[in-house]
Amino acid sequence: MSSIDNIQSTIVPITESGNYNLHDYDKYIVAFSGGKDSTACFLYLLDQGIPLSKIELWHHDIDGREQTLMDWEVTPAYCRAFAEAFNVPIYFSWKQGGFRREMLRENALTAPVNFECPDGSIQTTGGKTGKPNTRLRFPQVTPDLSLRWCSSYLKIDVGVKALVNQNRFNGKRTLFISGERGEESPARAKYKMWETDKADCRYRETFSKTVTHTSNGMAQTKVRRIIRGKKHRHVDRYRPILNWKEKQVWDIIKAHRVRVHPCYYLGYSRCSCKFCIFGNPDQFATSYRISPDQGNALMAYEEQFGVTMKRNTTLAACIDSGKPFVNLDDENVIVATSYTYDLPVRMSQSEHWLLPVGAYKRGCSER
Ligand code: SF4
Repeated sequence: MSSIDNIQSTIVPITESGNYNLHDYDKYIVAFSGGKDSTACFLYLLDQGIPLSKIELWHHDIDGREQTLMDWEVTPAYCRAFAEAFNVPIYFSWKQGGFRREMLRENALTAPVNFECPDGSIQTTGGKTGKPNTRLRFPQVTPDLSLRWCSSYLKIDVGVKALVNQNRFNGKRTLFISGERGEESPARAKYKMWETDKADCRYRETFSKTVTHTSNGMAQTKVRRIIRGKKHRHVDRYRPILNWKEKQVWDIIKAHRVRVHPCYYLGYSRCSCKFCIFGNPDQFATSYRISPDQGNALMAYEEQFGVTMKRNTTLAACIDSGKPFVNLDDENVIVATSYTYDLPVRMSQSEHWLLPVGAYKRGCSER
C-alpha cells in the first residue's frame, strides 16, 4: 500500500461542519440499498452513538412490486433481514410498475409513488400532473439524470416524495444519509459531504408554479401560487463515507460481523441491479448465466425499441464478449435469486467472517 493510501485510509468523516452537527437531529434516514456502502453508513451511525430509536432504513424497490426485471430477487428480503437483525425499522418505497412501467411509458404520465409508513399503511402520491411522455428506451449510461432516468425517477424522486408526504417529518430536524463515495467516480468525488436536502422546507417563501393537469387526454395548464415553509420541515443530506476508501467500508462491516448481500459472494463488486446499465461485459455475462430469462427479456426490449442499453453494442454482444465470473457457487446463486433470505445477517463469533470475492474488484458504478 502506498503512503498516500495510508493517509487516506485514516481520514474520518466530518461529523460537524459549519452549521451541521451529526448529533443534532430528531430522525436519521439511511438510504439503504442492501449494498456495502449503505451498510457502512448505518454501522457508522451506530459507532457514532446515534440512538437506534432515531434511525430508520429506506429502501427503494427498483422493480416495484412487479416481476423482477433488473434487480436481484433477494434484495428486498435481504434488506428486511438486515433491519430485523439490527432491530431497526425499514420502510420500502417504489414507483408503481417499477422499472418496466417507466421504461414502457408511451404518451403517458409517470406512475404514482407508493411508500410504507410506520403505522403499516401504504400511501400513494403523484402520477397525476406533468406532461404525458414517451420513453421506450433503457436509461442511458451518462451522469445526466434526465437520460439516466432510473436513478432520478426510481430512487431520488421516490425518496423525496416519501419524505415530503409524511407529516411526521414536519417541524422536525431530519438527516438523510446516503453512501456515495468519491472513489467510485469523478462525478461522485464532487458531491458535498453536507448540504440542504431536496426535501427541505424550513424557510417560508412564496412563488408561482405552472402546473399541467391531464384530464380525459387533454392537457390543461394553470399557474398556482405556492407557499413553502409552512411545515417547518428541516432536512439535511449527509454523505459520511464520501472520503472513505473501500478498505474502510469492509473494515467496519467486518467489525460488526455483517454477512453482506449475496451478490458480493458471487463476485460482484457492487450491489447494484443484477443487470445494471453500468455493468461491464463480465458482469453481464455472469448475470446472464445466472438469470437467462431476465437477460432474454432485456434483449427483447432492445429489439422492440430499436435502441440498445449500451450506446455502441447490443446486450447480446456485450454478454458474448464477457467472461462469467469463475467458481460461481451454486448455493450462493440460489440465495441471490430467492425471494426469501434465511441466513443470519449478523455472524456469530464462532463463524469465520470471510471477505467476499467481489471485494476490491473493479466493476460498474453509478456515475
Ligand atoms: S443500479 Fe444501475 S440500473 Fe439499477 S437503478 Fe441504479 S443505475 Fe439504474
